[in-house]
Amino acid sequence: MIQVKHLSKSYKRKNKTNVILKNVNITLFDVGLVYIIGPSGCGKSTLLNIFEGIDNDYEGDVFINDTNIRKLKGKAKRMFFKNNIGIVTQASNLFESLTVYQNLLLTCYIKGINKSIIDEYLKKYKLEKLKNHKVSTLSGGEKQRISLIRAIINKPKIIFADEPTGALDKDNAQILMDELYELSKTTLAIVVTHNLNLINEYKGSIIEIKDKEVEIKENLTINTNYVRYSKLVKEKDYSNLFIDSSFKSNKAKNIISFISLFVGLFLIFGSFSLNEGFNLNKDNIYEKNINSNVVKIYKNDYEDISKSKLSLVKKKRPSIENIQTFLCSFENINIYYNFDFYITNKFIKINNIESKEYNLKFYFNSSYENKILVNDIKKENIDSISITLDKSFQFFEPTSKYKTNERFYFENTYNSFNIIKEFKYLNEPTIYLPYFYFLDYLRNNIATQISRMTSKKISFLDLVYLCLDDSNISSYSMYVAISNNDIKRIRNLMTNISNSNKPIYKLESEYFFIIDSFVSLIQALLLGIKMFIIVICLCNIFLIGFLTYSTVKKEKRIIAILRVLGSKEEYINNIFLNEGLIILFISLASSLLIFYISKTLINKKLYDFFVVSNLMQISLSNLVLIVLSIIVIFISLYLFLLGFSKRLSVKEELKEE
Ligand code: ADP
Ligand code: MG
Repeated sequence: MIQVKHLSKSYKRKNKTNVILKNVNITLFDVGLVYIIGPSGCGKSTLLNIFEGIDNDYEGDVFINDTNIRKLKGKAKRMFFKNNIGIVTQASNLFESLTVYQNLLLTCYIKGINKSIIDEYLKKYKLEKLKNHKVSTLSGGEKQRISLIRAIINKPKIIFADEPTGALDKDNAQILMDELYELSKTTLAIVVTHNLNLINEYKGSIIEIKDKEVEIKENLTINTNYVRYSKLVKEKDYSNLFIDSSFKSNKAKNIISFISLFVGLFLIFGSFSLNEGFNLNKDNIYEKNINSNVVKIYKNDYEDISKSKLSLVKKKRPSIENIQTFLCSFENINIYYNFDFYITNKFIKINNIESKEYNLKFYFNSSYENKILVNDIKKENIDSISITLDKSFQFFEPTSKYKTNERFYFENTYNSFNIIKEFKYLNEPTIYLPYFYFLDYLRNNIATQISRMTSKKISFLDLVYLCLDDSNISSYSMYVAISNNDIKRIRNLMTNISNSNKPIYKLESEYFFIIDSFVSLIQALLLGIKMFIIVICLCNIFLIGFLTYSTVKKEKRIIAILRVLGSKEEYINNIFLNEGLIILFISLASSLLIFYISKTLINKKLYDFFVVSNLMQISLSNLVLIVLSIIVIFISLYLFLLGFSKRLSVKEELKEE
């Protein structure tokens, strides 16, 4: 039973009030056919929308079976309308991309009834053969009859039909009205129409809207059979029915989402793993790239000039004892002779072509044995490097009269297997010789002339030990290798010395300079990577947000229909969420795959540059954490965005096309 008491409805627009219905009072009993007629725009649909609970903005009260429908809220409201009313509109408002069966199936799920009833109805209305046809391939009449089945499938107590035959030809209109007429024998069927032929053919009560008021033209069927209204039933999630069709209809959006997610995720994995790899390998990078923590140490002898404040400085090679006393507070100090002076006459050939621009230096990393390090040359372009040192010097044996003119040759050819590319960062083009290998070479080469004169076997290394600390075959410095723990202290010492007046010792290290610059570089790089991650995340969030919002906008008719059918909001959201999640999982899987493949390649490239392996790496636990957070962020973002769909007006969406 529907009771309308003092119902008034008006639309307000820009301070103007447009009254549609004024003080309407009607009572409609439980069974029968009721027509609502009146000229176009008089408020028929408006009245129906109020009955259907779609429009709540009115004055007065509407009772359906003694329930004031305005007072129904939330789930109670949804359940009340879902279980007790069926709606047929002028446009059939079926889901065009689904089959007839799927349309009815999802209705069964929403209404919480057994799906076996679908076949019964299709048989009863002689539509079985259309069961698996897509709705978009049906005729208008067929669609409207399916729409009627959808409205009555859970045996509602009231059927509202707003111009159900409006878009049908005469024959189809007749078929539909036959069916509605039959239904009105057991339910209340309220039909809005302006087709007077129908009214004559299928007798029913008539309510005419005239000048904003309601006039009852024909006597109402009075039936006092009191119909019991339905209880709550269990609903089922139907959202998976839409997966197939929504993928087809949102192809472009899904492709863009996939690409953006794929790229974004790939970059996120990439930058996280670079971050992790660099952090773990920071020390490694120092160790491998700074070929050893070697500092050159010089000794200055000051000679006062009479009657002057200035003094002469004479550079001398410090002795091992000098250094040991000077650096006595340092624990693990290794002191080496500097053989730089041997390197002055050098001939370097790269691929048999003489090359002048390269410096020669020593490195102390014994793990490379007799390999050589190069920088600034593309490793793959080197087939061989050959180095010849040709040093001639006069030698005065310090304790006697012997004098020789010795020539020292060091000739070594390296093939590409023995060439290691060194990380070049601020270094000038340099080829590094292995110090210990060179040392052995000096030790094993006999200085023949002086040996003959002294009748002792004297090697070139012995010559270095024998020479005076200011002799021309003595380099004016020594190497001091410091352990990693002492790096900071030796650096402080260096600054202190350079600040003091007339220091006796002078320390020099280009490696410290390189380390410092390199650390700042890495730190800036990691900061950049972090910013990059944030930017990627934001871009992705905006893009996905925009795309989701636009899909919701595009599919708002679907949302409106599902809402009118009484679906849980959660299930409506699931339609979009399912699609989003599938795209997310495909993107996740493919970006992870590509990430793992490219990780190896990138690591190879990074190795060439930094000489440290596994600079790009990520632990399983971090990976799982990242993936989980992405999924959580994604779902919350999606649900947040879908919240906007609540603002959709069902009434506007379901207007006739
Ligand atoms: P009909 O009897 O043809 O179904 P309606 O009930 O759809 O007519 O509309 C009744 C009147 O209300 C019309 O004049 C229409 O312009 C007006 N109207 C309908 N919806 C709105 C709205 N959302 N805002 C303002 N006016 C509206
Ligand atoms: Mg209308």
